[in-house]
Parts: sequence; C-alpha cells; structure tokens
Amino acid sequence: MMAKTVQTMSLLGGHPVLDFVNTVDSRIGTIGPDYLQSYDDLLIWAGRTQSIDADTRQRLAIEAAQRPVDAAAALSRAKALREALYRICCMEVSDRPVEKADLDLFDTALRSALAGRRLACEDGALEWAWRRREALDHIADRIAVAACDLLIESRGERRPIRQCPGRNCGWLFLDTSRGGRRHWCSDRSCGTPARVRKFRAE
Ligand SMILES: [Zn+2]
Repeated sequence: MMAKTVQTMSLLGGHPVLDFVNTVDSRIGTIGPDYLQSYDDLLIWAGRTQSIDADTRQRLAIEAAQRPVDAAAALSRAKALREALYRICCMEVSDRPVEKADLDLFDTALRSALAGRRLACEDGALEWAWRRREALDHIADRIAVAACDLLIESRGERRPIRQCPGRNCGWLFLDTSRGGRRHWCSDRSCGTPARVRKFRAE
C-alpha cells in the first residue's frame, strides 16, 4: 500500500479544522506521520479543503518560493496552532480542562486573524474579506476563524467532537449521521479491522 500524503489523506472530519488536526495520522498509539512537512503541503491541504481559492493558492505559492525562511516559520506557527486546537478539541472527548498555554495560543492567533478581515459588500450583501491574502499566515488565519466557528459559534448546533478509537488512529470527527452512532472515523480503515480482530480473538 502506498504511503498516504496530504494529497491522498481522507478528509472525513466533517469540518476543515478537524481535517487540519487530522494531518497528524495517527494521534493514538504510534504518533504520526505528520503530513505537513513543507509549506507546499499546507497549500495542498488548504486547496483540498477549499480553505483558499486557486488564485490565493497561487499567490501564496509564489510568496513562499520567494521567502522560504518566512514560509517555514509560517508553517511552524500553523502547526503550533494545530496542536493547540487538537488539545482544545479533545476537551469535548475527555472532559479534561484546556491548558492555559493552548487557550492563549489560540486567542493570539484568532485576534491576529480577525484583525486581518474587513467588511466588504458583494452582490448586495455584506461579507468578510481578507486584507492580505498573500500573507504567509493567511491559511492559519482562516483556520483560527474556522475554529472559532466550530468551537464557539456552532457549538450549540452540533454534537460533541468524537475521537476514533481505532488502533493507531485517534482522528477527530463530527458525527453528522442521523442516529448519531458513528463510532469510527471510517468503517473501512478502522471499524472493519477492529471487528476482524475482535472476531479472531473470540
Ligand atoms: Zn479511525
């Protein structure tokens, strides 16, 4: 089987923030691999999740190629945000209180992201526009705002975040099934292998 990459990983978290957290595969058992090894990987992820449009992606690719050191630093910041968000999301899984350092990191990232937005009017309706779409932190800015939506604004309209108990998994997902009994991130990768192991053990 070919090793998975950010290009081929499944996007089944049900929310871009959870798909971002799931770029570390896995979270339980053997930790990793981390699919975000370069700024290009971040661009691929953002393109696949439609977090940015094609034009923004191209602008950011040019910017990253011209400023590789800054792009590497932006990637590190995005990954630090990802790890803080992972632990914050896990609060809904295990009821463990959130660490102040994680809350502070998310808060700082969110405030910086919100400062980068401005109101615009498009086709007779107001919308948020971004001041500097070519800023290397633009993807992290979008993730921070999306995380605010997931963790605060839409909190009352969804079920709690779940964590897949599959061997070497631990992916986070939103259960949007009608019955609310989704147990695995995916039946194919985690549910079926677990049932096979259980059957063999009996
Ligand atoms: Zn799983």
